[in-house]
Amino acid sequence: MSTLTEFEFIEKYLSTVPTSRSDVRMGIGDDAALVEVPKDQFLAITTDNLIEGRHFLPDTPAHALGYRLLAVNLSDLAAMGAEPAWASLSLTLPALETAWIDDFFQGFQKLANTYSVALIGGNTTQGACNLGLQLMGFVPKQQAIMRNGAKVGDKIVVTGTLGDAALALRYLRGQIGEIAPSQKEFLLQRLYYPTARVELGIGLRDHATAAIDISDGLAADLMHLLNASKVGAQINIDQLPCSPVLRALCKKADAVALALYQGDNYELCFTLPAEKLSLLQSLREEANVFCTVIGEIIAEQGLFAIEEGKAKTAILPVGWDHFMDRKT
Ligand code: ADP
Ligand code: MG
Repeated sequence: MSTLTEFEFIEKYLSTVPTSRSDVRMGIGDDAALVEVPKDQFLAITTDNLIEGRHFLPDTPAHALGYRLLAVNLSDLAAMGAEPAWASLSLTLPALETAWIDDFFQGFQKLANTYSVALIGGNTTQGACNLGLQLMGFVPKQQAIMRNGAKVGDKIVVTGTLGDAALALRYLRGQIGEIAPSQKEFLLQRLYYPTARVELGIGLRDHATAAIDISDGLAADLMHLLNASKVGAQINIDQLPCSPVLRALCKKADAVALALYQGDNYELCFTLPAEKLSLLQSLREEANVFCTVIGEIIAEQGLFAIEEGKAKTAILPVGWDHFMDRKT
């Protein structure tokens, strides 16, 4: 197995990684990177790490890790309505294995090219596998979308489908037995290659009153948005968007639990004034993403579920909390 030293990796390998943006004055190679932030725009900054054994199983393909590390950060910028631009990569690996690194950077670069993200620096250390990325972008000052703007009467919308990544993890852990090859392919694609809703986030700038990316589960993340906005919500359980594969493999109650409480979706949840609902169709088409209205903002604080034939019930906002090592 061929490996690189830190010097070979930084001097030789990283110089082959494209850093293609005209606003980068100094990329990899100096003590810090220098970039030009567009006038009248905020610099938007986010960081996420993928830690082996915690965020991914040990045999996850490196290509998927490179792609996913960027996708999870893109999703955070998308939730702010920001346009991504620059990335800084903090790599901690047991060894710099050439095959692993090639595969990782191919995955990373595939998505970086899609959104013209330039890798402008980072850090490389030896240790247990921990992949960290800081992603920076920008958003016009008056147009940043935050969590705190939801108003009573706004509709609550989510992108894509919920629960697929969690079901993929069940499959990888051997908890659901054999499934059809096409189902397996769909689920692994949803886990390994999440689709960040960058275009939609930008399209929502003048319209959404609040947005959040659903990384820890819909109930928990929507609750963050509600608390920040000091409002409550009522969601319709029958309208939660679940994929045909998830519906085929899970009973209804289980599908609902996956959609509400499981993480790794990297979809957006946003609020839209009711009179702007007609915009959804054009937003869907421009950003090529399926959006579903799942409920509305109410004055009573808390998160409530309505379901055909059942009384209104409170939903506990459980989600993943690293320091509790379990669902909160
Ligand atoms: P310093 O010792 O000044 O912190 P390093 O020798 O660690 O610098 O890194 C040299 C250059 O390589 C810097 O521009 C740094 O940002 C970049 N770099 C180091 N590791 C990575 C990485 N994993 N990804 C991208 N750039 C990196
Ligand atoms: Mg230095």
